[in-house]
Amino acid sequence: MGEKRLYDRDGHKFVLLEGFGGGEMVPTNQVLIHDGDEAILLDPGGHKVHYELINAISSLIPINQLKYLFYSHQDPDIVAAVNAWLMLTDADAYISKLWLRFVPHFGVDELMINRLKGIPDEGQRFKLGHSELIFVPAHFLHSSGNFQVYDPKSKILFSGDLGASIGPDYVEVADFDAHIPYMEGFHRRYMPSGHANRQWAEMVSSLDIEMIVPQHGAIFPNAEMSRRFIQWVAELPGAAESMKATYAIPA
Ligand code: FE
Repeated sequence: MGEKRLYDRDGHKFVLLEGFGGGEMVPTNQVLIHDGDEAILLDPGGHKVHYELINAISSLIPINQLKYLFYSHQDPDIVAAVNAWLMLTDADAYISKLWLRFVPHFGVDELMINRLKGIPDEGQRFKLGHSELIFVPAHFLHSSGNFQVYDPKSKILFSGDLGASIGPDYVEVADFDAHIPYMEGFHRRYMPSGHANRQWAEMVSSLDIEMIVPQHGAIFPNAEMSRRFIQWVAELPGAAESMKATYAIPA
């Protein structure tokens, strides 16, 4: 586990908290963005991660400045500890409106249910301290209600499951071609739609991106690696289209 300040200038911080989880749990990255006296935590993680993370965050900021939680989608490695986070902080939690009535199955106390906020399909601009973030639509990458976060100050895109790599022993991608095998199996199975892949690549090409940080594995630490990754996604076939042969009743 480690903490990496990917950006820290003029009262604006983008901090990567990496390598949480482990054992049978797929390791996860968490991100804390802090501006002025407000912070948002991206993809807070499951129960075990919660305990380790709360300590790590408390050493960075007064915990009462954690005003927002962001959930890229509804998977357990992201949402499972939502009730604990809501109990422990005063933060509001943002997730695609598609999942608002599903997340409470993780057990959200009735008193806190109105702090779960739905993000509309088209995404939104989001005020944090003196800065503004963008909740970028990334539906079907891989969840049907799915968002990423772009931070215009640091020019970093948090990409959720898109860009995930399983197993590399480095934190920053230095050789894109050598990195592909760590991403390929996951993306070819979890990203359903080649059409969505291409549309996403086209959309984010209009953003000025210095870095891409996924929820699992190594980050793309500069503009060139980010560009290579976006290009790779543009050509990535969708799982639903490539798996036609598996739609057969098992013998
Ligand atoms: Fe997921």
